[in-house]
Amino acid sequence: MTRRKLLATATIAPFLFLVLPAAAEETVLVTAFSPSGRRLGTERVAKVVRPDAEWRRMLSPIAYEVTRQAGTERAFTGSTWDNHADGLYRCICCDTALFDSHTKFESGTGWPSFWRPIASTNVVQHDDRSWIEDRTAVSCALCDAHLGHVFNDGPQPTGLRYCMNSAAMRFVARAAA
Ligand SMILES: [Zn+2]
Repeated sequence: MTRRKLLATATIAPFLFLVLPAAAEETVLVTAFSPSGRRLGTERVAKVVRPDAEWRRMLSPIAYEVTRQAGTERAFTGSTWDNHADGLYRCICCDTALFDSHTKFESGTGWPSFWRPIASTNVVQHDDRSWIEDRTAVSCALCDAHLGHVFNDGPQPTGLRYCMNSAAMRFVARAAA
């Protein structure tokens, strides 16, 4: 490195330090739900951002692999593919409400499947070209946790099948209203 470059780097570095934390303060609209599943309202909040090492410490190995490395749990191995209890499915990483058991259905796939997210604000869909066929990946809007994929072969009224990983979600039984 030349002396001039070194000086330039030294001049810019303190500014990068100032700019980077600000960039991490990205905000997103999220809809909150009560323990009884009642919609409480939509708010703009700061995204949940953590260093990878922190996620690894916080999460079980399978939850980390699914949510932070876009992994997929083996079919019929998760805790909720066969769960028929009434309640909400929340993000394992940040507790955002993702799905209501009222929209869960028997897909026969071995993964918990829903025909609609609890609120369109709370999940983000994006193209996933990492596989042989193009798929649409679904992630948590607040913390970017990978949750699963959505397909067009679901039941009515939406015709969608949100094929999720049990490990990406925490099931919470519905509280009395
Ligand atoms: Zn989340």
